[in-house]
Amino acid sequence: MIISTGTASGKSLAYLTPAIASCLDGGTVLYLTPTKALAADQLRGLRELRITQVRAACFDGDTPFEERTWVRQHANYVLTNPDMLHRGILPRHAQWSSFLRRLRMVVVDECHGYRGVFGSHVAQILRRLRRACARYNSHPTFLLASATASEPGAFAMRLTGLEMDEVTVDASPKGSTTIALWEPPLTELRGEGGAPVRRTATAEAADLLADLVLADVRTLAFIRSRRGAETVALSARAKLADVAFSISPSFPTPNTPPVPLPTPTNAPTPTQASGAPDLTPEDPQDHLQDPRSPQDPQDPQNPRDRRSPQHPQSRQNLQDRRSPQHPQDLQDPQDPQNLQDSQGAQSTQSQRDLRDDPQSAQTQQDQHNIITPQGPLTWAIPDAPNLPSSLDSDLTDLPNKIAAYRAGYLAEDRRLLEKALRAGTIMGLATTNALELGVDVSGLDAVLIAGWPGTRASLWQQAGRAGRDGQDALAVLIARDDPLDTYLVHHPQALFGQPVEAIVLDPGNPYVLGPHLCAAAAEIPLTEDDLPIFGPTTPDVLADLVAQNLLRRRPAGWFWTRRERATDLADIRGGGGAPIQVVESSTGRLLGSVDEPSAHTTVHTGAIYLHQGETFLVELLDLEAGVALVSSANPDYTTFARDITDISILSTERSTALGSGTLHFGEVEVTRQVVSYLKRRLQSGEMLGDEPLELPPRTLRTRAVWWTLPASAVAPLAEAGIDLGGAAHAAEHASIGLLPLFATCDRWDIGGVSTELHADTGLLTVFVYDGHEGGAGFAERGYARATDWLTATREAILSCECERGCPSCIQSPKCGNGNEPLHKRGAVRLLDTLLPPR
Ligand SMILES: [Zn+2]
Ligand SMILES: [Zn+2]
Repeated sequence: MIISTGTASGKSLAYLTPAIASCLDGGTVLYLTPTKALAADQLRGLRELRITQVRAACFDGDTPFEERTWVRQHANYVLTNPDMLHRGILPRHAQWSSFLRRLRMVVVDECHGYRGVFGSHVAQILRRLRRACARYNSHPTFLLASATASEPGAFAMRLTGLEMDEVTVDASPKGSTTIALWEPPLTELRGEGGAPVRRTATAEAADLLADLVLADVRTLAFIRSRRGAETVALSARAKLADVAFSISPSFPTPNTPPVPLPTPTNAPTPTQASGAPDLTPEDPQDHLQDPRSPQDPQDPQNPRDRRSPQHPQSRQNLQDRRSPQHPQDLQDPQDPQNLQDSQGAQSTQSQRDLRDDPQSAQTQQDQHNIITPQGPLTWAIPDAPNLPSSLDSDLTDLPNKIAAYRAGYLAEDRRLLEKALRAGTIMGLATTNALELGVDVSGLDAVLIAGWPGTRASLWQQAGRAGRDGQDALAVLIARDDPLDTYLVHHPQALFGQPVEAIVLDPGNPYVLGPHLCAAAAEIPLTEDDLPIFGPTTPDVLADLVAQNLLRRRPAGWFWTRRERATDLADIRGGGGAPIQVVESSTGRLLGSVDEPSAHTTVHTGAIYLHQGETFLVELLDLEAGVALVSSANPDYTTFARDITDISILSTERSTALGSGTLHFGEVEVTRQVVSYLKRRLQSGEMLGDEPLELPPRTLRTRAVWWTLPASAVAPLAEAGIDLGGAAHAAEHASIGLLPLFATCDRWDIGGVSTELHADTGLLTVFVYDGHEGGAGFAERGYARATDWLTATREAILSCECERGCPSCIQSPKCGNGNEPLHKRGAVRLLDTLLPPR
């Protein structure tokens, strides 16, 4: 059974009830979740029920060794993740025999996370689990819980290999949510090829977060990266500090010389002039509120508590924040005028306005135009009712009302954060997505979503976090400079009244299936009877594994006879290949590992690498040694690896006519080489340069969807003066940007090649391929939805108001050709030849 309904609709209750009943009946329950944090939360919830017969325990990488035996022998409700099931439980199934023998129910929570290559691995792990259970004569019921998905039953069947019933009607009580679609303005900055640069989604999110918190609206801001979340929180806090300072002359000013930074910021940059937050993120960690000591745990209404000097934090924050970028502050830190001037024209203006008439200035400043499904409307954040009445008392704490959620919080930290959110001591929280959140953040008024979260399902899930006690709520989707985001904020109909996406996975991918057949054979030798459980491609893949000497064929079946662990063959969260170790050069500390294909794009020399919220600069990538040396750093830019790609067609599996062209799907060989990386300023998105790299090419056998146009169709376009190469290139970039709308993938999961004349087709050809060995089902989905996909691509290009192309439409941050040539109008003309008339 799969339950596929919205956030907070009671899914947990729906699986907990039968699961606990199973335990009371003498059975056992296995609970699977993608993250350890979620399992820990579930465990806490279970223990709070105080049912003595339920002996619940987590079994994951953090479980101490001495506890593991107890869990295997005594626990009847085990919470774990697919990784642990794959490496820890299934290979030692004999030790788990008493648990598996009594296994009544397998709960697969948050199962919409199991998509693409990772989902395909999990599908095979679940098949191995079913086989191990059968060995001990148990046939557990699988109960899956998912955010809203289209065709959840079909997805659940692909994931488990079992016939599935679905529950999709959500009858839980809810208030209404107003959804705003928000497009940041183009700035005066110029990017690659002179293209205009849009204000970043994070800069807009920071402004909105500050505005909403000032208006007493409890707000959660979802930011794609942790570093982004920290920057947003810092920036919003800075804004609140400005407001507090400008309203109250008694607001603390720095009275000790601040510690100078190693690299003070230069004179005002275009960033500041353009109205982007003038905050250079130095060391975000220093400024963030420590969740172990939330202010004012007692009484948020009591002004005395707030005025009291128990909150040196805010004073400290202000000093830290202002000093490094405004070295002139050092001259006379006592002088408020000095501070004020250093804030830049815009905020100075707002301070003066506020001082004259806080209410009216506030309203004026916060008015924004929003596109809604009903058309454009002007919307203002409600006046802040508490601002004038409690000015003096509230001010010192104002910036501390905003926090960023960091990775690695202990359970007790998260509980404190929940408490602070409920009490209102924290009003605004910037965070990455909810899965790793591990905190109960229900009971918020508004949600800001900086950048399309990837799927309609995630959008509704994140928006669903807003709305307490059936009250109305607000959710704002802020577009990034990306063709998909542009398309969506201009086409609300693509979001509203649409079914959410189907979750795509391909368990039959031989590169996924092979390692799991080896693992399965190592667990219990494979027999003919086992083959159907692993799908129709199993016999072929087995023959390959025997040919590679990975498995031995004997009369009794297929055997794993090697000394290594078979489970090491499957890298379920990565793309295969020997991993590159990421090592901190000053300490020799191993931070983690990156699979080899990703290493070229994520830890190349000069890359900015994020690890658990901390930022590192890669000093050197040594592929031969398998090591990337990194050092802690806080630059104000991000990096994007750029590659050039060659593609050749191995086989064409399907073809169909598409307008005056032809659409194909098949197997391809892709040769990719990372040739340079782009540096872009973190806050403004401004391009800072393109640095060359020398890395070897990599080949990949995968699946692709491609379209061709005959000479008769392109000749008139060439005559009309269209640069065909630039047009095809632009169409390719935009279509890569839009495919995630139809295939639940990330634009980084796919790649493309376009050419005016391809050697294998002899025609103008545009390819989009799966970036994973063997394919992940994305290109196949593109083939199935080609007309809708390419129509949306054309719409996205047409929607963008730039003249000749920008990152919001046809430019791509990972283009190895430096976004040359690109022809915006030509791309539309090419797509016109494939599609029904506009
Ligand atoms: Zn544009
Ligand atoms: Zn390109």
